Amino acid sequence: MAAGETAPRQGRMKQSVKMIVGNWKMNGLGADLATTVADLLHDLHLEPQQCRVGICPPATLIDRLARDVRTSHIEVGGQDCRVEAKGAFTGGVSAEMLVDAGARLVILGHSERRQEFGESDALVSDKVGAALRAGLTPIICVGETLAQREAGEAASVVRGQVLGSLNDDLAGKDWALAYEPVWAIGTGLTPTLEQISEIHAAARAAMIERLGDGGGAAPILYGGSVNPGNARDILAVDEVGGALVGGASLKAADFLAIIRAAQPASVAAG
Ligand code: PEP
Repeated sequence: MAAGETAPRQGRMKQSVKMIVGNWKMNGLGADLATTVADLLHDLHLEPQQCRVGICPPATLIDRLARDVRTSHIEVGGQDCRVEAKGAFTGGVSAEMLVDAGARLVILGHSERRQEFGESDALVSDKVGAALRAGLTPIICVGETLAQREAGEAASVVRGQVLGSLNDDLAGKDWALAYEPVWAIGTGLTPTLEQISEIHAAARAAMIERLGDGGGAAPILYGGSVNPGNARDILAVDEVGGALVGGASLKAADFLAIIRAAQPASVAAG
């Protein structure tokens, strides 16, 4: 299978293989990485057909992490990329550079980038194209603010973000959507399971509206205050194909517990 093509494990609607991705944000120095990865690898018994696991550290740690996990099935990712492959963009990191450093995944359109850097759906869509050009698996983030939820606009906001942020090139490729309500990120608050189900269904409908059948295969991750206590229930919700995990991915024990919640019971117990 060529890089970037849809993996066979992503069956439409029934995604039995969950995808768990840690987003370290701007956290982690080399010493933290060594400890966390050693703890993780010591206790992780990961078979790729049972769970797909990724970690997206700061760009400075991608190369080291990729070396540290090379004998495991853990995939390494970036947290953003520029649209351009190279050029006079001081501080920028291209998708090709992420691949060169050892990344296979990239988070795009995270709400922190949408809010702090004014990233629009159109820019996110262009970044998706750049990620695919380089052979990366994009994880495209969408999600409503608290004001939008309180105004009853959550589903329509997510639909608009999906329609605007996806890219025609995604059809047949390996990618994921992440539904991350802005108000749930880093707050300890989560939507109810019914609310998660409702928005994931709306996101799926928008993905199919945008890409046709090609929008039916990619997993939809839930993100926002996932922790060892709520992961199992959230991951059991219809159309939840995995989790994007911020704070809890920084502690090996918590991240492991979430991975276990995503694995079949027989594996998780082992
Ligand atoms: C995130 O920022 O992608 C995230 C899900 O963060 P947290 O798990 O800390 O809410």
